[in-house]
Amino acid sequence: MVTLSRIKHVRAFTVRGGGADYHDQGEGHWIDDHIATPMAKYPEYRQSRQSFGINVLGTLVVEIEAEDGTIGFAVTTGGEPACYIVEKHLARFLEGRSPTDYEKIWDQMFFSTQYYGRKGLVVNAISGVDLALWDLLGKLRDEPVYQLLGGAVRDELQFYATGARPDVAKELGFIGGKLPLHHGPAEGEEGMHKNIALLADMRAKCGDDFWLMYDCWMALDVNYATKLATRAWNECGLKWIEEAISPDDYWGYAELKRNVPKGMLVTTGEHEATRWGFRMLLEMDCCDIIQPDVGWCGGVTELLKISALADAAGKLVVPHGSSVYSYHFVVTRHNSPFAEFLMMHPGPTEVVPMFAPQLLGEPVPQNGRMRTSALDKPGFGVELNRDIALHRPYTH
Ligand SMILES: [Mg+2]
Repeated sequence: MVTLSRIKHVRAFTVRGGGADYHDQGEGHWIDDHIATPMAKYPEYRQSRQSFGINVLGTLVVEIEAEDGTIGFAVTTGGEPACYIVEKHLARFLEGRSPTDYEKIWDQMFFSTQYYGRKGLVVNAISGVDLALWDLLGKLRDEPVYQLLGGAVRDELQFYATGARPDVAKELGFIGGKLPLHHGPAEGEEGMHKNIALLADMRAKCGDDFWLMYDCWMALDVNYATKLATRAWNECGLKWIEEAISPDDYWGYAELKRNVPKGMLVTTGEHEATRWGFRMLLEMDCCDIIQPDVGWCGGVTELLKISALADAAGKLVVPHGSSVYSYHFVVTRHNSPFAEFLMMHPGPTEVVPMFAPQLLGEPVPQNGRMRTSALDKPGFGVELNRDIALHRPYTH
């Protein structure tokens, strides 16, 4: 019987500038160009999401070192406050334990923080630890994470691209393009016309069969979202409307799903967390596709539970962003037939690694696809780029 090396030490670092905190970009990037948000009702916060602090946290890097010197790591959003939670609170549930005990470790991390956690930053921190633990487990067993999750159910992944240029995404071989919505309810009828005009322009450039989607980043209300969905379906063949309203408004999502034209999909869930949050979306029939972010929803351990709920409810799971943490999961699930690729090139006119420059060996789609064999390395198959400035604000 193989006995794996025990966990010796957990460390948490922050990093600035792109990577897992993909909103932390320089000026002129498409991701901060007048994108509709719930803060856009305040004109002073309408032009830039960085103006209201979307990038204040930065990236969290979690490293878990085993007694034999093997190191697993993961990156997610959370920055310095997540470092505090990992070092001062969560590390105690790992050190001295076997990395095979991820179920018990997850349960203890979640229920020990439940009185101040449950969602958001705390679950981001838990997710980072969980993903680092799976990376360590894969490295110790010399297997890719997707094999630990049950093995691949297909021999390649296919991707849609998120970014401001679906026309370029089509040329690059992606199966669809998801645009950020630029104008919310505060910009009235004029904003609505601009939203439809941009989509119509992309439809004309991309042809009838290419998937086009709108990502609304929680910016709308049910009435506006219903009007947008109806016009976008009738005039431009919009495939889905994503995260149209507040993630707390389950009742609004249920109403929106009843309201949209038959055949159009409602998607949401990137800011939802845990099996209990997704159970609400599924049981209240809020959407057609759930989109958990692997680094925010509770990590792989929790995503397996979320995914099983969705499977039984007949819903697809297409994770938000998440780079390699998504790819190793998606390739193992029948109800996860394609993946998202965030186009992090500023234009975006070319494919660059999603979490650059933080990961070394991060695979990217070629012609909109990725062979499963591209994931055939131990753990999540990437290494931490140690040339970037890592800051460890706390110890324990
Ligand atoms: Mg989204």
